[in-house]
Amino acid sequence: MTLTYLCFLKQILKRNHCIDSIISKFSFRTLEASLSCLVPHKKFPSSFLPGRLAFLIFLFIILTQETPLLAQQYLKSVPESGFEKRITDYIDTIRIIDNHEHLADPQIVKQLDLLDFMLLLHQYNYNDLISSGLPKSNFDKLFNQKLPPKEKWDIIAPYWEASFNTANNRLAVLAARTLFGVDDINRSTVDTLSARIARAYQADWTGHVLNDLCRIDYLIQDGDDKILGVDNIKYVKRFTSWLTVRSKYRIDSIAIEQVNPILTLEDFVLSLEEEFNSAMNRGVVAVKVNMAYYRTLKIDNVKVEEARRVFRSLRNGDEDHVLTYSEAKPLQDYMFHRLMDLAQKNSMPVVFHTGLHSGNGNYIANSDPSLLSNIFMRYPEIKFSLFHGSYPYGGELSALAKNFPNVFIDLNWIYAISPSYSERYLHEWLETIPVNKIMAFGGDFRCVENIYGELLIAKQVISKVLISKVGQGYFSEQEALKIAKMILYDNSKLFYKIL
Ligand SMILES: [Zn+2]
Repeated sequence: MTLTYLCFLKQILKRNHCIDSIISKFSFRTLEASLSCLVPHKKFPSSFLPGRLAFLIFLFIILTQETPLLAQQYLKSVPESGFEKRITDYIDTIRIIDNHEHLADPQIVKQLDLLDFMLLLHQYNYNDLISSGLPKSNFDKLFNQKLPPKEKWDIIAPYWEASFNTANNRLAVLAARTLFGVDDINRSTVDTLSARIARAYQADWTGHVLNDLCRIDYLIQDGDDKILGVDNIKYVKRFTSWLTVRSKYRIDSIAIEQVNPILTLEDFVLSLEEEFNSAMNRGVVAVKVNMAYYRTLKIDNVKVEEARRVFRSLRNGDEDHVLTYSEAKPLQDYMFHRLMDLAQKNSMPVVFHTGLHSGNGNYIANSDPSLLSNIFMRYPEIKFSLFHGSYPYGGELSALAKNFPNVFIDLNWIYAISPSYSERYLHEWLETIPVNKIMAFGGDFRCVENIYGELLIAKQVISKVLISKVGQGYFSEQEALKIAKMILYDNSKLFYKIL
């Protein structure tokens, strides 16, 4: 009879989803109170009372043993066999929207002295080489001089040996292997790899990699220069000159470029508006804010008098005089709000650099996405996207995107930073954030080889996470496929209003 009674209680507890709360608050007294609350009309049998303590211990053991099982017993039944391959195949062949690149014009790349194996290592890999100890004084030799590949290799060899482990450097090897048939990057392969890279660029290599291999339908470029000869590129626009202004020289440079004097704060705001309207006319799809490279993302509400005071101190100062960031902050913050006014008025999405900075040596705390909370509240009509999975602020990012309807997240670049961070947080973000607000790919690279390498890793991570979640019964197979399409295509199409 006791066992029957226990089963009955377990069913009620399961139905009421109260097990965790009961266990977390566990004490014999609270457990008993919780039980009587769940089954108020059920009296404990009088014959049962003497053994009440033993019963409660027994019940506690059963319930605590049940908890890990329940964590696996999600909503979906066991998937049909072969679901792992079907999900992987679907993701391998899906068309995607690439949310963020700094693509170098292939016509220019063709002419570069850089067209050797260092092409694959010229961006974040170079940052890792510097991080491992490579003196920066080697930059010119590596990237601006036509040295034999082996000579370049000899410069980086000790630092490559010290940093071959990073995801950036693994990704370059992956690109060398999959695109050029060279299994490793080392002294004996750099000549072959360099020759194959140079040969590839004789044809439409960029178009081939983006369209045929990556299956990218649209690529969103962060850069002002138009890339010719590559289809379906959309652009974001930066307004860094206004958002990080600290000198008279900067103001005068804008005035000269726009052929319009900037003598007052109102003129300065008008110059921002002119730049914004011109970008709108060119069809840009978002405002890009990268101020975290220069200063904190904490943006205050500033009175116009305060901004005017800073503007006047610049206007009346010497051409060479440069304010500190804290001195210039009121004017910069004021201009940021004017930019948001324009974005809001024109329904233009705004994307932020958050988390790790490229390059070497910066203040990571400046790019903590939670510093932006007041901005998300103040501009509820603007859609914000937070880039780079905010590495290493994945938990903060999760809370922000869950909490604010206008905050979206973008995983661009994080597969090259850390595949395991991407995997760990994609798991978490798929549990916390409405899936329509997750955008899953952008390479953040200048050359297509690394975009391809990163996409391979991204697809592995996304497949692995979705397969795991289907295996656990968290999603059905159909839901996993739907999510893959949403995070790799549909969500970006809607966010950037790509028609
Ligand atoms: Zn970028």
